[in-house]
Amino acid sequence: MAEVSLHKLNKKFDTTHVVKDVDLQIRDKEFMVFVGPSGCGKTTTLRMIAGLEAVTAGEIRIDDRVVNEVPPMDRDIAMVFQNYALYPHMSVASNLAFGLKMRKFEKAEIEKRINNAASILGIESLLQRKPRQLSGGQRQRVALGRAIVRDPKVFLFDEPLSNLDAQLRVQMRVELKKLHERLAVTSVYVTHDQVEAMTLGDRVVVMKDGLVQQVGEPLELYNTPANRFVAGFIGSPAMNFADVTLIENDGKPVAEAPELRIGIPGELAARARAKIGSKATLGIRPEDIHIATAADAPEYCFEASVEVVEQLGSEILLDMRVGPALMVASVEPTLRVRSHDKLKLALKPERLHLFDAETEAAI
Ligand code: ATP
Repeated sequence: MAEVSLHKLNKKFDTTHVVKDVDLQIRDKEFMVFVGPSGCGKTTTLRMIAGLEAVTAGEIRIDDRVVNEVPPMDRDIAMVFQNYALYPHMSVASNLAFGLKMRKFEKAEIEKRINNAASILGIESLLQRKPRQLSGGQRQRVALGRAIVRDPKVFLFDEPLSNLDAQLRVQMRVELKKLHERLAVTSVYVTHDQVEAMTLGDRVVVMKDGLVQQVGEPLELYNTPANRFVAGFIGSPAMNFADVTLIENDGKPVAEAPELRIGIPGELAARARAKIGSKATLGIRPEDIHIATAADAPEYCFEASVEVVEQLGSEILLDMRVGPALMVASVEPTLRVRSHDKLKLALKPERLHLFDAETEAAI
């Protein structure tokens, strides 16, 4: 069993405050992903958990033990790095054995663990090779193997797939997911790639400027982002935003912008009502916009002028102008549409988001 908890965790490099009051409970066997733009503090947080970076303030616990002052070697964690960090002069088998030898494991036990890890990762035939004789994907498997043989309480991953080409990344992503199901070890994974975060994480922590923006299951982040930043960061293509004013029309709240007037449905209307007269940001995902039909209520329809048509095969992305706002819609691949066409579109009312213009928090 291994739970990792961060309590008011802070890191300063001289005067630069890069991790700010991070509170987080990582559950036993959970795969927790930290995601955020470059420089947001995710790697520094991971390195503090690993013991590679001193904690400025706050507490890190692994189970009930505070590990702030415990050296990395004694934390019972194994870390997988982006650059693999393999010893070039050693064979794969020796690379796998190294950490265990340092810890004075018996030879027979080392052999057993190497064979087990090699079989899990399908690298049995590579054990006598040197790292330079391996492909990028194989090297990454060896790096994973080195963590697996340790049989640690916690795995820490620092962007382990970012040196691989796009196709291999997808393949290794699936392998990592299977590996986690099989080993069921608490894992903390850092990436700047939101697709990786969404597909791998049981839960995802979104960070920006050293602050946790939201923690949740992938679909929770996608469906109910806590603020505009999370809304724009999670999901591809990104959510569309338009600056609007919340007004009242026939007793109902409406989001209004030049050439855009959208009704606000259900519970969102109740919350928007308290903010009539103020500025807000309307958010709608490209996949929640479609070509309007007679079935669409007029208050959820708007007109757009198509600027660019992106044919992706499985869908068409329309880059459109709606008044001063630019929006993207993902529509059926069979649609015949050309740039400069004027279209009537509709959005799914239940998928509409509003954010406070000042705080950027979800309304
Ligand atoms: P990336 O994906 O680019 O690695 P990140 O979110 O992992 O980004 P960190 O590596 O945690 O970000 O860095 C957070 C901030 O701390 C950055 O502004 C970085 O420049 C700064 N930083 C990191 N390490 C040090 C250091 N040793 N000394 C000074 N500043 C540092």
